Amino acid sequence: MKCSKCGQEVPEDAIYCPHCTGDRQTTQREIIRGGIVGGLKGLFLGLLPAIVLLMHYGAERGIKAIAFIVPVTTFTTGLIIGLVRAKRDWK
Ligand SMILES: [Zn+2]
Repeated sequence: MKCSKCGQEVPEDAIYCPHCTGDRQTTQREIIRGGIVGGLKGLFLGLLPAIVLLMHYGAERGIKAIAFIVPVTTFTTGLIIGLVRAKRDWK
């Protein structure tokens, strides 16, 4: 396909035009989106063991704390990984 801005040939799966990388707004948005996607993946991965834990042991105080911390931790980790990956794609 061709870029709508500069008219140069761009790979079909490209999330942005490599010839228009001067467009900071677009790339920053892509980095943020990468972070959100990564964070959601992490959250999903963390929620599964948390739910299993809650169903297995019940909602006791200690279990509740673990079931809360695990998804938060995996969400943060996924967010950072997503941000770093999106940034690397940009370069
Ligand atoms: Zn372009």
